[in-house]
Amino acid sequence: MVLLLVGAWGAVAQAPYQHCAAQALRAEHLAAHAERRAAVERLEAFTQNFRPDLATERQLATIPVVVHLLWQDPSQNLSDEIIASQIDALNRDFQKRNPNRLQIPDDFAPLATSIGLEFCLASTDPQGQASSGILRRQSTVDCIGNVGEVRLNGRPRLYYPELGGSAAWDPLRYLNIWVAPTCGAFLGIGTFPETVPPAEDGIIVDPLYFGIRPADSPSFPFHLGKTATHEVGHYLNLQHTWGQRGCEVDDQVADTPQQETEYRNCPIHPISSCGSPDMFMNFMNYVDDECLMLFTEGQRLRMWAAITASRPDLLTSDVCTPPDPVRTNPLTIYPNPARDCIHLLLEADPADEFNLYLIDSQGRRVYAASLRGESLQSIDVQGLASGVYWVQVVREKVVYSGKVLVLPNSF
Ligand SMILES: [Zn+2]
Repeated sequence: MVLLLVGAWGAVAQAPYQHCAAQALRAEHLAAHAERRAAVERLEAFTQNFRPDLATERQLATIPVVVHLLWQDPSQNLSDEIIASQIDALNRDFQKRNPNRLQIPDDFAPLATSIGLEFCLASTDPQGQASSGILRRQSTVDCIGNVGEVRLNGRPRLYYPELGGSAAWDPLRYLNIWVAPTCGAFLGIGTFPETVPPAEDGIIVDPLYFGIRPADSPSFPFHLGKTATHEVGHYLNLQHTWGQRGCEVDDQVADTPQQETEYRNCPIHPISSCGSPDMFMNFMNYVDDECLMLFTEGQRLRMWAAITASRPDLLTSDVCTPPDPVRTNPLTIYPNPARDCIHLLLEADPADEFNLYLIDSQGRRVYAASLRGESLQSIDVQGLASGVYWVQVVREKVVYSGKVLVLPNSF
């Protein structure tokens, strides 16, 4: 097993440069932790059964972000404007507003979609105090962003203040982004759901590739903020479009063509492998920022399955805006655990319309209803298998959700 781990990172070190180390990190954690392998398998089963119509409802959900900026050289102490430009870049790419979407080849253009996600810098910290959503710290540890190697007793220093790092804010309620020098080890990392300890959950981007920069800057050709887009894709359970190399291993997304290996630079479409033209302009490839153009409908589904099953609290996190009655969670679920019946109390204005879903651990929708205004909905669960279920309430642009445990029926 140790050899396997060394191999995952060793292959990284031999590449001319390592673009993204997310899948190597994933492989390392899964090799060492059986319970995380089991959790990933459960998430995959959920994802494969996730109902398309749930994710194709047009909604714009907000994900709060905290940026941990650990700098050594003053040039790495990025301005607030550069950090804001990265948030803009994420919103551009996750809402299909990237200008080069118009250059997507005709055969792939119908697959391109907005993911319906809005990112914002948190305005409230975990203790409820006002915050800019940006934490700055001058680091005394060289290359602290290189979590593959800069460790003490196996713990990556980046994530632990006592080791010179910056501690994650509650990863259930915030997307943690660490901006820290990797010294050329890689451009970025995004942690896949269920694969790492909560303290290490989030993405890393080297400061040189964070934010939108001029084309004549040293950041070129990764100067348009798309490293973070790619890493948030991993954070929401997307794999590289070539899977793990070879035509046999897929990225588990149906509408991204099989692709043998990664592409770099800016290739000209069409180039084929595995019997079909490759979607090298997908955000989950390695080409230059100017040539990364799209997420697909299948990737959108996969990301929403991951949010629903593994990261649901991000959507009801209210840390981006001051408390506002419209944005507070209107859903109360009781009893929880439940045995015979679940009661769902929805507090809302009379004109508000909601769709309500109960989703099982396999991602199947087992109950659906349309609600209007304040209402109490009771669902008979005696016929359901025991286990964890997700209640999801969708109102125009916002998703609210909660978990409920259904116990075995009493006789
Ligand atoms: Zn990657």
